[in-house]
Amino acid sequence: MNQFFAYFRLKEMTPVKVFLAFVVIEAVAWFVRLPLWFAIAFTFFSVAFLVWLFMYSLTLAKTRFAFDIERNQNAAMIHALSEGIIAYDQNFKITSLNSAAEAICGVRAQEVVGQVVTPEWVSQEYYRVFAQIIFPSLAPTVVKKTTTASYPQIVEVSFSEPRELHVEVTTTQIFDENKKLLGFMKIIRDRSREIQLLQSKSEFITIAAHQLRTPLSGIKWGIEALYKGDVGPLTEEQSKVAEQTYHMVERLASTVENLLDVSKLEEGKFGYRMAKGDIVELAQSVMETYTQSAQQHEVKLLFFPPDQHIPQLTFDASKITLVLQNLIDNAIKYNVQNGEVRVRIELMPDKPYVKISIEDTGIGVPQDDMKLLFTKFYRSEETLKKEAAGSGLGLYISKNIVKRHGGDIWATSTQGRGSVFSFALPTDESLIPPTEVGANQGF
Ligand code: ADP
Repeated sequence: MNQFFAYFRLKEMTPVKVFLAFVVIEAVAWFVRLPLWFAIAFTFFSVAFLVWLFMYSLTLAKTRFAFDIERNQNAAMIHALSEGIIAYDQNFKITSLNSAAEAICGVRAQEVVGQVVTPEWVSQEYYRVFAQIIFPSLAPTVVKKTTTASYPQIVEVSFSEPRELHVEVTTTQIFDENKKLLGFMKIIRDRSREIQLLQSKSEFITIAAHQLRTPLSGIKWGIEALYKGDVGPLTEEQSKVAEQTYHMVERLASTVENLLDVSKLEEGKFGYRMAKGDIVELAQSVMETYTQSAQQHEVKLLFFPPDQHIPQLTFDASKITLVLQNLIDNAIKYNVQNGEVRVRIELMPDKPYVKISIEDTGIGVPQDDMKLLFTKFYRSEETLKKEAAGSGLGLYISKNIVKRHGGDIWATSTQGRGSVFSFALPTDESLIPPTEVGANQGF
């Protein structure tokens, strides 16, 4: 009964109340003025209509009730989310902004909801972060994480003013039930703390690696002098032990160098010097430095010169040398006796990129491991069994270097048959990111 009165008080019940009042008043009049059976018939039909009207209004009220509950639940959920949510229509008129978005952007919902945001807002200090999140291309540091123009689009945006802020912004479209575009929604994840932690971890590794570097080069120098007989003759056995130790120290020193490179990359301090250069010449000269190593591994090195003109590209020659060294070194190390390494350079059809591929006839990468290639410290089980020297950092470093050049790196492989590692560098300079961004933030 209480429920009945609760429904009766709802605004959907107004027509029922009006009609009830009408029936009560009119029924008295009908019974006074009309013949009895007329009055009974009128009253009967009116009451039947009243019941129908009540049921109909009740359905409407219940629907609204359910809708209100759902809307309030959604609003409560959106407001409680730790991710910032900003919704706006096609004209960039803000329709909603939750509390997390208020905290991240430093604006209040009532100041921006209902307002049309334009790129000019960036010039107002108070709205700068907010406007740059709406228009990420205007932000000081942006890294696109999605390569196609389709939605959702994900970008990483970093600010140093008014405070250090790193956010990941995902933009999705909002459609109505007829698939008509209503507007957009931005989901903002504040990664500042996460990035701070990663940076302090990187700094720790940088300091530790720096501390190891100097004594290591001293040990390397000392052992080299020993086994080469520079400080007096050794027996054959002593010399063998010293030489093995020297190679181990060399491996350790190269791991320390790799760790240093990774920390610098992750801190965004690898330091790139971009200049125009001839990638064909560079690849050929790096390849030549591996002649001896290839002979030792009994592997044939083959260079396939491009059959088209390859334009000059913009790149950091020392960093691209590192990529080529890593890929050629791997192709030799993970090859088989009498295997081959083929290096090819070609223009990519219909794309503004030059592709450099290094193909080998080696052990290959297990299919399940393909997703792990290019991640830190990955080494396949077979590699570990082979005990080939390596740190599992070379491909990770290479990937970051190529990405910094606006390019991409990938591999195809068949276990036991060989692999092809390829990377592409843009021929169009505008595809190169303007600044170096820490690897934790960007890739
Ligand atoms: P490292 O060679 O120092 O181990 P990398 O990052 O260069 O580190 O390579 C990571 C792992 O990927 C290697 O240990 C190996 O298991 C696998 N790998 C890389 N290149 C090849 C290749 N050409 N053929 C087979 N496996 C490869």
